[in-house]
Amino acid sequence: MDRESVVKKVEDMLVAGEITPWKAEAAAADHGIPAPENITVGVEARRRFVEHKTGHSFHHLVMPDKPYHVAFRCPRDNTLWTLAAEDTDQHCSLCGSELSMLPEEERYKPLVNSYIGGVEDYCSYSGQVSVCGDVEKTFQILLCWGPGVGHMGIGAGCYKLNKYGPVEVCVSDWGRACRNLSFVFDTEEQREKARFLIQDNLDSIISQITQKHLSDWNGEIEYVDFLYKQHHRDRILHCCFYSRFDNHRGHGQTSHAVGMAKLIIDDLFRSNNIPCRLSVVGMGRDGDLKPSPRNRRGRYVSAQQAIPVAEYEKILGRSIRDFFSYIHLDYQGVTEETGWPAYTGMGGEIIPAFYRTMRCNPRPYLVSSYQKVYARIEGNDLVFGVELPNVEVGITSSPEGIIPPASREILKMWGIGTAKEFAAAVAAITLGGEFNFATRHVQEKMYTGK
Ligand SMILES: [Zn+2]
Repeated sequence: MDRESVVKKVEDMLVAGEITPWKAEAAAADHGIPAPENITVGVEARRRFVEHKTGHSFHHLVMPDKPYHVAFRCPRDNTLWTLAAEDTDQHCSLCGSELSMLPEEERYKPLVNSYIGGVEDYCSYSGQVSVCGDVEKTFQILLCWGPGVGHMGIGAGCYKLNKYGPVEVCVSDWGRACRNLSFVFDTEEQREKARFLIQDNLDSIISQITQKHLSDWNGEIEYVDFLYKQHHRDRILHCCFYSRFDNHRGHGQTSHAVGMAKLIIDDLFRSNNIPCRLSVVGMGRDGDLKPSPRNRRGRYVSAQQAIPVAEYEKILGRSIRDFFSYIHLDYQGVTEETGWPAYTGMGGEIIPAFYRTMRCNPRPYLVSSYQKVYARIEGNDLVFGVELPNVEVGITSSPEGIIPPASREILKMWGIGTAKEFAAAVAAITLGGEFNFATRHVQEKMYTGK
């Protein structure tokens, strides 16, 4: 068979479901393509398969001429080096010696498992996931993950969950942003007067800052809350503005709006003779870049699936009681070791991979990576779910944050067009990863080679 015929043959096998997407390189080798060319052929076939699945062509997520890595060893200090085939510097970074290639059978591997494209970040294809509820869609899973098999675990988990129908998702219509103002007074009486003055003028303040900074972004102020705190003689008044947006993150716009509110409030204090000793933007109270259960940024999303207990016990090969023992020992471990009164599991790995792939605003995704797992029995079913309370995202490529062309292409291939779909997709794959992970742990198959 000539090269082009093998690409076509492997593509057909993928479309027919005869092989899993990550077996394309092996299938090319089986059809007589020698290493490392079998990797190039496998990646080409997988790219065509993904184009077929998504209905979109690759334009920006490019494939390098040599989509594989080469393994070396330093002859001097014996360190192992794995370099992209395109890397022109084949020297040891530790001692500067020229590296020696490993024997041919150990030399070549794909850049990452199930690689489909990308030159700086390597993108993989990991199957699909169907959701229902607030978003009804089947997403194709394209992720910049890493060299390991984690993204395949996500694909496997989503496949297992979808055997019981689409995953049910609940997503907020709005994503929230917030910015806090802090005012320091010498007496409680001054502080009290200040709070009433702000409250009396709040409608006018909100109307001015909305018109100037939020309307263009379809944003609005949802509510404003007040909090009294004290540090020795400092009587502090916190005044936090919460805004909400449908498809923007709104963080910068909210900051500018609240900066304007500060100037209006300062003028009000002056004209009403209220001596405010310090007036500042007090970001420590608004949760900027701080993951916590109290953080009110972003958008709530949950994803869950119901699985008949009897069927799940067959998959586990043991009692559902053992499954709950695992869930509780892990929950206890996380809460006691990290001090967070909530559970964060695989999400800490899956959610950042999703953000790295999409490169939407925000680039720092710490707040959004907060996640909880829950499991309970309802009737004859196990209900297994995840909650992500703080998904921040600006889904348009805009002054708020440019989305690079390859990431816009990936979003389109996933089937993600809105912020709600973005949130639904990240929750669904987080559920898939957690489900696969928990199941394999209870089966005692995780890291044991079983
Ligand atoms: Zn060396």
